[in-house]
Amino acid sequence: MIIIKTPEEIELMRESALIVSKTLGMLASEVKPGVTTLQLDKLAETFIRDHGAEPGFLGMYDFPNSLCMSPNAQVVHGIPNDTPLEEGDIISIDCGALKNDFYGDHAYTFEVGEVSPEVKKLLEVTKESLYVGIREFKLGNRVGDVGYAIQKFTEDHGYGVVRELVGHGIGRKMHEDPEMPNYGKRGRGKKFQEGMVVAIEPMTNMGTRNIKQLSDGWTILTKDGKPSAHFEHNVAIVDGKPEILSTFAYIYEALGIKSNEEDEFRQKALVL
Ligand code: MG
Ligand code: MG
Repeated sequence: MIIIKTPEEIELMRESALIVSKTLGMLASEVKPGVTTLQLDKLAETFIRDHGAEPGFLGMYDFPNSLCMSPNAQVVHGIPNDTPLEEGDIISIDCGALKNDFYGDHAYTFEVGEVSPEVKKLLEVTKESLYVGIREFKLGNRVGDVGYAIQKFTEDHGYGVVRELVGHGIGRKMHEDPEMPNYGKRGRGKKFQEGMVVAIEPMTNMGTRNIKQLSDGWTILTKDGKPSAHFEHNVAIVDGKPEILSTFAYIYEALGIKSNEEDEFRQKALVL
C-alpha cells in the first residue's frame, strides 16, 4: 500500500533528508587515502546524533553500523571495517537518519584521491541516470517510466543495471511501497500520486549487471569484480512535479564543485 504524505509530513521528511545530506557533506572532507570506513562510520554516527536524529541503518534488519560502505566492486550494503581506503578507490556511502518519526536515506559515490578516467565516467553516468529517473517521477507517469528511463540511459553507455536491488517508497518506514526498480517498461506499474515520497537509487556496474553476495549476509558485489556506483535521492511529488528533498550541495561545497544539477527539481531555493 502506498502511503501518501501531507505537505506537513513532507516538510518533516525534508528535515530528515537534509540531516543525511549534511552528514554526507561532512564525510566528503574526510574521504581520503588512509582513512578506514569504520572511522567514517563513527564520525557519521556522532554527527547524526548531534543533529537530533538517530542513525537510520544501525540495527535495522540487524545491520551493525550507521553507514553502508561499499568500495570499488561492492555495489551496496558493505559493512564498515578497518581496511584503509587507497588512492584511486571509489567508495559508495549510503546513509540513513530518523527524526520526527520519518526517515531520510540517500547515497553518494566518492572518489578517493585521483581515480581513472573510466571510473570517473561510471560515476558521472550513474549520477546523471539518477536525474534522468527523477525527471520521470511526476503525475501521469508510472513506476515503469522511471525504471525504463534509467535503464535506457545506463545501457546506452554500455553499463550493467543491477536488478536484484531497487529503490523504494520512504516515510515512517525506511522501505515502503512501491518498489522502484532501475529497469522497466514504459507505462507499466503503479501510478504516481501527489504526496508520494520515494528513494530513487540507481546501482550501476561498469561490467555486467550480475552480482553476488558475501558470506557476511550483507555485502553485494559485482560478479565480474569490476567497479559499481550508487547514487540516491529522496524525492516527493509536489504540485505534480518531482521535488528533491535531499541535496548533494553540502558535498559539493566541501569539494569545491559548482553544480546546478538539482535546480530543476526544487520549487524554492535551497538555504544551506
Ligand atoms: Mg540508501
Ligand atoms: Mg534507499
